[in-house]
Amino acid sequence: MTTISESEIQITERILAQTGKMLAELFPQQARDQVLDTVRKNEEWRGRQCINLLAPEALMSPTARRLLASELSQRAGEGEIGNRWFAGTRYIDELEALCVELAKRLFQCNFADHRLVSGMVGNTVVYLALTQPGDVVMSLPKPAGGHSSNRNDGPAGLRGCHIADVPFDPYEMTVDVDALRTVARSVRPQLIALGSTLTLFPYPLREIKAIADEVGAYLYLDGAHQLGLMAGGQFQDALGEGADVLTGSTGKTLSGPQGGLILWNEPKLTGRLRWAIFPGMAATHQINRVAALAVSLAEMLAFGREYMAQIVTNAQALARALHERGFDVLGAHKGYTRTHQVAMDVAKYGGGYEVAERLAQANIITNKNLLPTDTPEQWNRPSGLRLGTTEVTRLGMKETEMEQVADFIHQVVVVGEESERVRKEVTAFRESFQTVGYCWE
Ligand SMILES: *Cc1c(COP(=O)(O)O)cnc(C)c1O
Repeated sequence: MTTISESEIQITERILAQTGKMLAELFPQQARDQVLDTVRKNEEWRGRQCINLLAPEALMSPTARRLLASELSQRAGEGEIGNRWFAGTRYIDELEALCVELAKRLFQCNFADHRLVSGMVGNTVVYLALTQPGDVVMSLPKPAGGHSSNRNDGPAGLRGCHIADVPFDPYEMTVDVDALRTVARSVRPQLIALGSTLTLFPYPLREIKAIADEVGAYLYLDGAHQLGLMAGGQFQDALGEGADVLTGSTGKTLSGPQGGLILWNEPKLTGRLRWAIFPGMAATHQINRVAALAVSLAEMLAFGREYMAQIVTNAQALARALHERGFDVLGAHKGYTRTHQVAMDVAKYGGGYEVAERLAQANIITNKNLLPTDTPEQWNRPSGLRLGTTEVTRLGMKETEMEQVADFIHQVVVVGEESERVRKEVTAFRESFQTVGYCWE
């Protein structure tokens, strides 16, 4: 049985015990104020003072954000558009139809579903619809960026699938197609899952589709991170290149509310996928989120090309600037990256955990990350650091600012400058980047 370790449970329980003790002395209204104050402090710090380089995060437009607090946030609309359990859903049907049609237009596909409260739920839907317990699924191992969604400890494993690794070339930072062919012929997968949390370059999808066809497998891309890049024409067109299903997170590069989208072309899959969504995985699926998503999709139709192109340009500029300052940046021989992500090996500076903590002291937010040359057991103390340029790009930063950001990182990690001093400079620098761009506001 898979379980959380006792030491992890203890960390959380300690924090809860402290909070519970503090709460015991407060009247309910004071407790309410405590909640408001905590949210305000985060907004001030993370929202106004930090350089946020977390690859899975993005800023929504002010319009999309406002919609999350709209009247719709109190409505329920389970079921299918035009076929609901509750009466009174006239405008909800209208809104959801707008959202689906905007998604189809943006991704140029035949079918889309918007009822996924997260990307992970979308991935669960794929396993429910396309696999049976006992089937073999091939997916990328975690050090290569493989996500729990497609591994033993997540939805794929919970479905009862057996997992075989998609072979990965850690130098080229892409799938080893010949090795994949050999493994697929031997394990005969029901499903080949691509997509990862660390993606620098496109996948050889057409070649992999040929292998999937040969062994009779579905090909599925978990494009959680790249969904926005695809919408903006900056990453491969997964469905066009042969994937049967594409899932993604709507709050990553797509820059909408947090949630998921699932997209496909083949009418024969529609019934199974929709059944897996409802009644399979979602009932009240957050209609305020759907409204914010619909607006974000319209923004991507208008601004996506320019916005996503600048994200990739910024990632390449940041990677180059860090490399020039002596960092060990992955993919250097291939131009570093074709996505919003930059990956560095920071083992010689104490590893990803240590470096991310030091940078956060200086108001630079990043995350520790396994690298393909790490072992899965190193998950908590990996060698890598992952950076993403989605948020800084939407705030208006360009290549020149990436040089400045690289300087800040260099000062903290290599020079060993006091975090307090760098924090002041970072906060002052961030002062002039406060407006969300690539939208109509
Ligand atoms: C982030 C991520 C997910 C999970 O998406 P959520 O929207 O956070 O649930 C799934 N797969 C991959 C590859 C991811 O990077």
